[in-house]
Amino acid sequence: MTEQLALLGGQPVRTTPLPAYNTLGPEERAAVNAVMDSGVLSQFLGAWTPDFYGGPRVQQLERAWEAHFDVAHAVSMNSATSCLYAAVGALDIGPGDEVIVSPYTMSASAAAALVYGAVPVFADIDPDTFCLTAETITRCITPRTRAIIVVDIFGQPADFAPIMALARQHGLKVIEDNAQGPGARYHGRYSGTLADIGVFSLNYHKTIHSGEGGIAVSNDARLAEKLRLIRNHAEAVAEAKGETDLVNLVGYNYRMTEIEAAIAGEQLKKLPALLATRQSHAARLTARLAGLPGITPPKVRADAEHGWYVYAIKYDAKATGVPRAKLVQALRAEGIPAAEGYVKPLYLQPMYQQRIAIGRDGFPFNLPAYAGSLNYARGICPTCEQMHFESLIYADYIHASLSEADVDSIADAWVKVLGNLDALREAR
Ligand SMILES: *Cc1c(COP(=O)(O)O)cnc(C)c1O
Repeated sequence: MTEQLALLGGQPVRTTPLPAYNTLGPEERAAVNAVMDSGVLSQFLGAWTPDFYGGPRVQQLERAWEAHFDVAHAVSMNSATSCLYAAVGALDIGPGDEVIVSPYTMSASAAAALVYGAVPVFADIDPDTFCLTAETITRCITPRTRAIIVVDIFGQPADFAPIMALARQHGLKVIEDNAQGPGARYHGRYSGTLADIGVFSLNYHKTIHSGEGGIAVSNDARLAEKLRLIRNHAEAVAEAKGETDLVNLVGYNYRMTEIEAAIAGEQLKKLPALLATRQSHAARLTARLAGLPGITPPKVRADAEHGWYVYAIKYDAKATGVPRAKLVQALRAEGIPAAEGYVKPLYLQPMYQQRIAIGRDGFPFNLPAYAGSLNYARGICPTCEQMHFESLIYADYIHASLSEADVDSIADAWVKVLGNLDALREAR
């Protein structure tokens, strides 16, 4: 018989917390010191001079990013959120337009449409990859649709071939939110480079980071230049630069500092090794969890390499008779993290429910184009709701600061809890 569950008074599998993810080392420290010694923490100028494109570290990072991910243009910014906003701007999206987006993502993926006066239309996700699919997107296309924001959620690329074919057929642009999957691949190509514009995040939760930061990439020279304009006070630069197309050339300051760029450059060098560790941890964990009752470990599509941002497990409470909340409680009692679901489906946020975004009067939801047709009601994305409210268990089980012994202890905790379902079912 298995040992008694910690939740019911037994010994926990782990008595020490899992190590935190930390990828910073002497390389980053030396790079930061070099920037300090240079005396230049940022060299951007919001005017049409060579410094419009930023200082040496910023430009070095961009060239290194282009080479690593095999993409023509990389544009660094102060966050992936800024990259997403600039991407929507660069695609000339504006009021009256609809942007199809996943509801199961960090909120900025959808807010990017709103800041340009467009509205997000939420398409449902695939129950195995949690990403949008060509099929769910198709159902949301209207004459007002202009773009699709596809998220490689949890680090696995969405199935881009049919999505891009659909987009081309309807004349739609596609933004790939690859904040979570640097280094993942699809049909041999890097995720982030699969759409018209792709976005990476360098915030400190992500696989590689510079504290804050983001990179937008594109193979289209004009889109890349619009991203650079929006990043750096476009309206102040347009005349001297000779810009004649003024659409969405309201600029921001989305610029990355030299310190962040120097750190990001060192982190990029570490990405392949960090990802290899994540992949091997994921394989190790899946080998132990496969076949346990009531759960489905993450599925990796045959044509993709997962970026393994997090390890998302599907749980079937109907099969086990133990509610997800109780299972999560039992896992936590064993000393390992587990969370019910990821983020609430975005359309359930107050902003969408109350339709208050920009100003007091409901802009952009209140435009005549949307009268009666916009729908943010509970139920519009049933798979997403099922995953979030019933099935998904989300945890950071595979990061590269964990040892194999740590991963084994995570597996041990799951094996123990799922081996004690009878006791758990009876526990109050
Ligand atoms: C982290 C994240 C973002 C935002 O990244 P920031 O760099 O923090 O702005 C956007 N989309 C997804 C899917 C993310 O995980």
